[in-house]
Amino acid sequence: MVSDSRSELREIAGQVRAHLEAQRELGLEYTDIRWPEPPAPARPLNLEEVREELGECTRCKLHRHRTQIVFGVGNPKARLVFVGEAPGADEDAQGEPFVGRAGQLLTKIIQAMGMQREDVYICNIIKCRPPNNRTPESEEILACSPFLLKQLRAISPQFICALGGPATQTLLKTKETISRLRGKFYDYHGIPLLATYHPAFLLRNPHEKKTVWEDMKLLLHEMQRA
Ligand code: URA
Repeated sequence: MVSDSRSELREIAGQVRAHLEAQRELGLEYTDIRWPEPPAPARPLNLEEVREELGECTRCKLHRHRTQIVFGVGNPKARLVFVGEAPGADEDAQGEPFVGRAGQLLTKIIQAMGMQREDVYICNIIKCRPPNNRTPESEEILACSPFLLKQLRAISPQFICALGGPATQTLLKTKETISRLRGKFYDYHGIPLLATYHPAFLLRNPHEKKTVWEDMKLLLHEMQRA
């Protein structure tokens, strides 16, 4: 085996030498060997292109019940992206994430942080409303999350805030509970991600609003330092 490949190499070397000698006899002084150019790295899609690629999606069963896709809203160059779970009834009707009661609370949180909804980008891990607002199933998340990843690549924010268990668990690929995950920064493809409670949870547990405010102060502190 070894001697086979050695003799093959010797044969190739002999052919190259013979070729170069023939070229020299024809007056060629040197050989310019060029390696093929490596392909240019693919540039990330912009948000419109990601939306176009998503199209009138039928990749999971949620398309059957939706009124419309709820893609995302806000500043395409946002420093901060909020990622929630899934559109609810209001979002499904209006085509915009976080516009119902939980959304109004999120808007207040954003304003208390000294920003407006237009300053940040808001989206969800899945783009279609699950029936009766149930938690998204793993196949639905699997089908939809590549588009979230592409949205995040398009925006390239400095910070991500994951709202609630399903968003945080999906982004961080963990089954850990949100009560353990919240209040800390994690690395999401090089972007610091802060996990906190979902605003809908705060509507049911208003005493936890102060916990979320502590988390937001931590986020603001890091954003000011960056
Ligand atoms: N809850 C979410 O997680 N997302 C929305 O868009 C609305 C409510």
